[in-house]
Amino acid sequence: MTGPLDGASPYFTPEHEAFRASVRLFLHKEVVPYAAEWERRRSMPRSAWHAFAAEGLLGLNHPVSAGGSGLDFFHSVVFLEELGRIGFGGVRFAVALHAYMGTSYLATNGSPELRERYLRPAVAGDLIAGLAITEPQAGSDLSRLAATAVDDGDELVVDGEKRFVVNGSFADFFVTAVRTPGPQVRSSQGDLSLVVIDRSAAGVHVRPNDSIAWRACGMADVGLRQVRVPKANVIGRRNSGFVQIMRNMQLERLAAGISAVGDAAHCLELTWRHLKGRGMFESTLSAKQAVRHTMADLLTEVEATRRLTHHAAWSYARDPLAITECSMAKLKATEVARTVAEECRHLHGSEGFREGSAIVQIVHDAQAATVAAGASEVMRDIVVQSGYEEFS
Ligand SMILES: Cc1cc2nc3c(=O)[nH]c(=O)nc-3n(C[C@H](O)[C@H](O)[C@H](O)COP(=O)(O)OP(=O)(O)OC[C@H]3O[C@@H](n4cnc5c(N)ncnc54)[C@H](O)[C@@H]3O)c2cc1C
Repeated sequence: MTGPLDGASPYFTPEHEAFRASVRLFLHKEVVPYAAEWERRRSMPRSAWHAFAAEGLLGLNHPVSAGGSGLDFFHSVVFLEELGRIGFGGVRFAVALHAYMGTSYLATNGSPELRERYLRPAVAGDLIAGLAITEPQAGSDLSRLAATAVDDGDELVVDGEKRFVVNGSFADFFVTAVRTPGPQVRSSQGDLSLVVIDRSAAGVHVRPNDSIAWRACGMADVGLRQVRVPKANVIGRRNSGFVQIMRNMQLERLAAGISAVGDAAHCLELTWRHLKGRGMFESTLSAKQAVRHTMADLLTEVEATRRLTHHAAWSYARDPLAITECSMAKLKATEVARTVAEECRHLHGSEGFREGSAIVQIVHDAQAATVAAGASEVMRDIVVQSGYEEFS
């Protein structure tokens, strides 16, 4: 074992490990040299998306029929771990959202036409996806979603406000949650539908927001005013949005958990380099027993968490509704990454408070991951409700 992500795992075959080596090579050649600049600019250039696509990394989990590779899920585990390990939160979430969140709705429920128009070009890096669910009054509680889509002939007319949309500043389309009220709807979640909205449609107003986390993913708020959308852009059945969100959330949370492990591993590596280079009295900080024990505890936490995410990935591959396992993986991994980031910031001393330093950005990015895709408190509620009947 040479580093926090290098321990052997029974889930990985020699093919997965060869794939890991090629992903690492790609990331260190095509992404790491430029990522700091992308984070500074709050954007990733199209050439970067095409580079990811040329390696097949935007469609690992998508069907071959839609241009993806249809590889077993542990290829995605390898990719997400390595993506997290480069240590640029904005790049990590821009790509993860595109490949595992926004487009997954199209892959699981999109009509053949929608797959051809949006999913295939997204896998090729020609179109970038955003996912627009959250609203000013509706985050954790989806029953408060208020955006509406009203029937008008062959079209829907959409009005609403969406917040914190990853890739929002440069996405070409948004998979958007809206209410499609009708006489047969009985519950507050029964009228949720998902529609694909083109960024270029009249009435779409994108406003970049100044998120202190995940900068390269071009976070934006999106206003929708009388946006006309063809009814053919509804993903899956009308009013099946809540079920689709619940299903795809498992992948979203699992991906967030797996990449958080990579992020924590990167933070430990960065900090260890700092400690080894920091002279302290007769030796270096890395030689102090108290520091070494802290690092050992963090390393152990990350390693244990990594095993949990592998188990969750295995469970997900057998059953995409592995709610308990995916929620546990998201909860544990993002909380461990947050703890690791905060402890490592402490070990950086005053450098841990310099705006713009790598460790400060890691702290912001790790904290954001405990809120996005479901806050930790929500994960805990789900774990007791879904996993342990006697607690519910
Ligand atoms: C970096 C980032 C990226 C995001 N990307 C996207 C995106 O691409 N698309 C999108 O649609 N949304 C996105 N979001 C929004 C995200 O899904 C919401 O932030 C999240 O669901 C929480 O909703 P909220 O922010 O409205 O907080 P609220 O729902 O108001 O919750 C606030 C806090 O209350 C606590 N809390 C919530 N529920 C409970 C509970 N049941 N019990 C106890 N405490 C609770 C938690 O501490 C939570 O952080 C993103 C958010 C962040 C931070």
